[in-house]
Order: sequence, then structure tokens, then C-alpha cells
Amino acid sequence: MGLISFLKEKFKKKTVSEEDKTYDQALSKSRNELSLKMKTLAKKAKKVNALYFEQLEEILIEADVGANLTLALVEETINLAKAKKMDEPDEINELLIDLMFQKYYDDYKDNHEIKFRDDRGSVVLITGVNGVGKTTSIAKLGYRYLKQGKKVCFVAADTFRAAAIEQLDEHAKRLDVPIVKGSPNEDPSSVIYRGLDYMISHGIDLLLIDTSGRLHNKDYLMRELGKINRVIEKRLGAPADESLLVLDATTGQNGLEQARAFLGTLPLTGLIITKMDGTSKGGIILAINQELHLPVRFIGLGEKMDDLKLFDLDKFLYSLLIGEDKE
Ligand code: GDP
Repeated sequence: MGLISFLKEKFKKKTVSEEDKTYDQALSKSRNELSLKMKTLAKKAKKVNALYFEQLEEILIEADVGANLTLALVEETINLAKAKKMDEPDEINELLIDLMFQKYYDDYKDNHEIKFRDDRGSVVLITGVNGVGKTTSIAKLGYRYLKQGKKVCFVAADTFRAAAIEQLDEHAKRLDVPIVKGSPNEDPSSVIYRGLDYMISHGIDLLLIDTSGRLHNKDYLMRELGKINRVIEKRLGAPADESLLVLDATTGQNGLEQARAFLGTLPLTGLIITKMDGTSKGGIILAINQELHLPVRFIGLGEKMDDLKLFDLDKFLYSLLIGEDKE
């Protein structure tokens, strides 16, 4: 049985969970862009020829799957189709979708929750340029782990933006989470130091740290983020447990550029992709994964507190490529 049939079975059999529905709804724009266009192409095409594959390529690129990955996927589809002597448009589309699943299947077997420690709290640095959804994602992560019974604390260390401190403060109040705040222009490292002290003295399980994401000067950013990790290491004997980069899906390939700028500034352990519900170019996740080799850990599927979901590749690809077939 091909992967498509396997997943159709998997998702059809069980009653549809709220989480599946959220994925499905949030990805509907992207699905229209990708899966609907592929189906329309297959319907219109009488036979599969070079033009058919070119059109498939166009669809993938328009969905932001990225040029390199698109070319590789289509080439593999052509070769497989030849080997299997397949020439029906629907079959070709299935082959391509199958390949997309296979490419990513191995990467995402692990559980992508934040890891908690027995000896002390987990320290998680959150970084990303302004406007990507960093503050909101911190609040949503806080909400997620509060619900799991964890003791959460925020650290507002983006001291270059007074608005960022205020915003995180509002979230902290709403969630009833303690917050260690910097004053405007205070050295972020000193705020973080205070945050670490608070974590230890209050038995906090999860310290979520908002860092500055000013990209106009990469050297500066590197120095600053490097210093932050050194401060953490000095205080705890180890760097941050996690460093997550937040990217906005609606910025498409631009997000990839941002990510490249951050690589090397911090030992990133994963990505949070926000605003997936606001884009028709959900293929960007595949391009990001292909280019950056960093796991997508969480995905923003809406504005509500519980709309930040653990990234689930099956659910994501199913909703992106097949979802609308659900009865
Ligand atoms: P920051 O400058 O990076 O801290 O960005 P904010 O956290 O202030 O978010 C900017 C805007 O994006 C806010 O209006 C958020 O509500 C919105 N936002 C964040 N994540 C998502 C998401 O997953 N879906 C949608 N629709 N909006 C989001």
C-alpha cells in the first residue's frame, strides 16, 4: 500500500479530533494552491508529457516548495514513472505526493515537545525578527505547558523594544505567569541572569526567554546572542536547553533568508513557524526543512492561545496535500 492510501486510512478511520480540524482549516488556503491545482491539472491533461511535468513544477514552486526541492521531486517522479510504466495523470500525482511524504517521514519520528529536566528548569531562548509572532508564540508555549501542569516563567529580554516588554507583560498577566522584565536598554544578559535566579529559587520548570531579533547588524546580533548563552552557561554550567527560531510563514522565501542570518548566531534546536493559517504557500515548510535541516517543532495555525500546535508531519502533509477528500 502506498503512503497516500495508508494515510487516507489512518485519518479516515478515527473520529476527527479538534487538532486535526485545526490543521485542516488552517491549511485550506495552501491546499487550494497545491493539491487542488494538481487535481485540476490532472483532470485537464489528456496524457502525461514533458509539459505536464513542467506544469507540476510550476505548481510546486508557486506553493513555495522551493526550486531545488521541486526540481529534485519532479525528477524523481519522472524516473519512478518510467520505471513503473505509469502515465496516468492521477497516478503521477500520487507518485509525487508519495515521494513528498517519504522525503520527510524519517525526520519526524521523534516527539517534539520541549524536553524537561529533573534537576532544574529548562531554559528556552526564543528568537526571530520583529513581527514574526515571537511574543505571541512565547505566550502560546506558556499556555501549552501550563495546561500540562508545568511551572512557567517568562523573561522579557528584548530590551530594545519597550513594546515587546509590555506585550509579554500583558500575556504574563493574562496567563497568571511570573515574568522577569528588563528595563528599556538594559543589557539583555543581565535580565536573563535575573531570570535564571528566579527560575532556580522558585522551582520553575520552563523559562521562556524573549530575545531581541534585530537583523540590521548580524555581528552585533551574534555577539549579543553569544553573550546570552555564555551568561546562561556561567550560571547553570550549560548553555540554553533549547534555542528556537520563530519564522513567519507568510513571508515565504524571505523567511528562509532570515533563518540563514540566524544560523550561526545560536545553536538552534528547532523552528516555530507562525501564521500558517494566513498563507497559501504552505510548501514553505518543506523548503525550510530541505534547506536548513532544522526540525519544525511548533506550528502556528491561528491567533487563539491553543492554536500553536506541535508540528505533526503526517497531519501537516495530509492537510496540505489530501485533506479535502475527507468525508
Ligand atoms: P513579534 O513582534 O515577533 O513579537 O510578533 P507578535 O507576537 O506581536 O505577533 C505579531 C502578530 O502576528 C500578532 O497580531 C499575532 O496575533 C499574529 N500571529 C502570531 N502567530 C500567529 C498565527 O499562527 N496565526 C495568525 N493568524 N496570527 C498570528
